[in-house]
Parts: sequence; C-alpha cells; structure tokens
Amino acid sequence: MRIRFWGTRGSLAKPGPGTVRYGGNTSCVEVRTADDTLIILDCGTGAHELGQDIMAQEPQPVRGHLLITHTHWDHIQGFPFFAPLFVPGNVWDIYAPGGMGRRLEETLAGQMEYAYFPVTLEQLGATIHYHDLVEGAFDLEDVHVTARYLNHPGLTLGYRLQVGGALVVYATDHEPHARPPLEASRKSGAGSHVLPVHREDREHIEFLRGADLLIHDAQYTAAEYPQKIGWGHSPIEYAVDVALAAGVKRLALFHHDPTHDDDTLDRLVEVCRGRVAASHGALEVFAAAEGLIIELAEGEGITAPGAERTESAAVDEMGEATVGAAKVLVVDDEPDIVGLLLATLEPEGYRLLSAHDGEAALRLARVERPSLILLDWRMPGKDGLEVCRLLREDADLELRRVPVVLLTAQMGQENISAGFSAGVTDYLTKPFKPAHVRSRVRGWLLRSRQDAAEGRSSNPESP
Ligand SMILES: [Zn+2]
Ligand SMILES: [Zn+2]
Repeated sequence: MRIRFWGTRGSLAKPGPGTVRYGGNTSCVEVRTADDTLIILDCGTGAHELGQDIMAQEPQPVRGHLLITHTHWDHIQGFPFFAPLFVPGNVWDIYAPGGMGRRLEETLAGQMEYAYFPVTLEQLGATIHYHDLVEGAFDLEDVHVTARYLNHPGLTLGYRLQVGGALVVYATDHEPHARPPLEASRKSGAGSHVLPVHREDREHIEFLRGADLLIHDAQYTAAEYPQKIGWGHSPIEYAVDVALAAGVKRLALFHHDPTHDDDTLDRLVEVCRGRVAASHGALEVFAAAEGLIIELAEGEGITAPGAERTESAAVDEMGEATVGAAKVLVVDDEPDIVGLLLATLEPEGYRLLSAHDGEAALRLARVERPSLILLDWRMPGKDGLEVCRLLREDADLELRRVPVVLLTAQMGQENISAGFSAGVTDYLTKPFKPAHVRSRVRGWLLRSRQDAAEGRSSNPESP
C-alpha cells in the first residue's frame, strides 16, 4: 500500500515561502494498493496536482474511489479542478457522510453553481456514482473500509483502510470529546498512556487501534486550543496521546493550521517526539508534507484489532428520510437554552418537543417516544441524571434505548463517569456553537438508527 500526500494544510490553502517544505495545499491524500486500487482521501486543493499526475502517468480510462470526510471547503475545493473527472470513460465512485439534509451530489453541485464556478457538475465527462455514507464498514475492491463519526462542527467521517496486514487510518477534522482533553486522565510512570474517561474518546482510540500509519488532525497546540474549543480540531498533544494509547506505529500530523509555517511545524514535531519519549512509547511522529510517500507492506491478511463496533454496511441505503422526520426532545429549565436549541435545530426539519423540568420530560418522553433527548443536567426537582436513570429502567424498550445527551457546563472526570454510568449516551457542553449542535445531533440520530437496525443498544453501559 502506497500513501502519498498531495495536500496537508487545514482550513485554507496557504502557498508562500513559509510553507514550501510542508506544503500549502488543503487536504488530499492518495492511497494505492499493490493490486492498483486507487482511493483518494478528500479533495482539497491538493487534488489539482494529483489530477495532473494521474492524467500524465495513468493508463486511461481511470477507475477510482474518492472518500470525502465532509464537505467543508478545504476538503472539496479541488473537486472542480480534478482533471480525471472531466474525461469520458473514467469511472469514479464518490463517498461522503449522508444525512445532512442535502445529498452529496447537490452539495458538490452547490460549489459549482454559476455564481462560483463556470462549469457545472453535469458537464463532468466521467461516469460518477455518488454514495451517502453512515458509520459502518464496506469493501472497495481489495480495501476494507471502516467509517466512524468524528467530533467536528459538520458531520464528518474518519476512514480506516485495511489491505491484508496494512492499516492506515485517516482521522482529520476532529477534536477531543472531553474537556480538558485527556490531560487529567494521564497516568504517570514508565510506558504510561492515556485512559480517557469519555466513552467517545475511548472509542476514537479503538478506531485508531493498531494503525501502521495514522493521519490525524493536529491543527493546534495545547496552548492554542482553549481559544479554539468547538472548532473541531485537535491539539498536537491529543493526537500523540491517542496514537500512543491505540498502539499506532507512525503518526502523521495533518491539517496544519494556516498560521503554522515550516519552522513552526519543525518545532511542533519536536514537541511531539518529546512527549513520546517522556512516555517511553515507540511511536514515530512526523508532520505530513506535500509529496511525501509512505509505503506499507500489505503482507498476509491479519485483521488488526479495534473498530469492531461498526462492522455494519456503511453505504446508506435507508436514505435520510427517517432521520429528517426524527422527534427530538429538548429539556432545560432555562428557557433561553431551550429557545436556542430549538432555533438551531428547526431548519433541520426535525419534529421538536420541549420541556422545562424532569417530570415533564419523562411524561413527554413516554407519550411521544422521541428519537433523541437533549437533557439538561442541573434542573430543580428531578435532574438530568435521575431522568436518564428512570428512562433506562422504563418498561418501554425504545425509551431504554433512546440516545440521551446530557447538557452540561461541567466536564470534570467524575461528572463524565457519573453520566455514563447513569446510562447517558454522550455530552453536549455549554456554551454550544450551532454548527456543532447540528452535526452532533445528526450523528447521534444516524448512529442510533444504525444501532436499532442491528438490534444494538446505543448505551453500552446501561442495563
Ligand atoms: Zn478541514
Ligand atoms: Zn471541517
């Protein structure tokens, strides 16, 4: 398996003398297997040069797969400039997270509307198949792909690609679930690594488990991160910690911040290597650079551990209608918070219900059987934890399984643990950013729909 970086920058292309070594183009990574399966991860501005390379080197027609993590600009801006899409006879399968209200094809067509671009999507000459994805696994020729939602203010999938014994994980545009990230749970002593309290951080580590190469979001430093919480990107220290905890062999820092020039990235790599040395780990860390090629031996088919949770079909054949009509119950004793959440979710087309205390929430939940409950922790009378415990003991199986997301301003370790043992599915931390709320709600609904279809509980720690 050969991996080549064509774009490593996050957020905005940043060409210039300060970025010549690590590159100024936005996210685009080429993956090619020994059997010549071509997979492209994201289609940022780096896709232009990749397209030129394919046109010059590759026998025509070209067959390829494009896996898009999400449709923020820096991941699709190269799409209209990717030459192999214009050639009749070429066949491309394009995959991206579905369920955001607009299907993939419409989203890509949106950035090619006349006001932005002179060529429309219909004018692309290649045969293009669009696929909406949810969490799960599927095969692209000889590559086994597992997709998992990341924590980002836009519904985003990370991809785990396995061919034989070679395993690469692409996890960009992701931030820690716990606040503060992992730091508090770091164990001291030789060979120490983190054991996060937040279930979603633990499952993220399982998703990365055993990777030969992990390409991970590393946009900020721990010092920069407090100003950037909710923007959906990781501090480099978190990338190192999760890579160590997951037993990863090589970590490529990725999605470089536009303000981090080459010299800054050199320093950040040293910081990361120091962190690995301090924990006596064996992880190799480098910063992804445009043009860099990594070869991984495919060897025999040894299945790496981890990521078992999502071994269901990821290609979304159920469509987004079920999620579009989903009932969401919002519970908070502060009317302003309820109003804000309802206003944020209203354009998504959900059927929204609200309550202002625990008793009312329980009554409404039993009558309406919502698909998701956003539940304030601190309320007079029955608080969020108590309501959640009662739901988990309810006679109605649907209420026992409904995802319950606790709204809280406090994310201490004890708080996180208390919530999960009460059967809470996840947390949403105040203050919220609307884009973050929308993408997380969509993710919880899609995940629980998958879980229900496969008879699995969204709340593994509940009875
Ligand atoms: Zn990005
Ligand atoms: Zn993004």
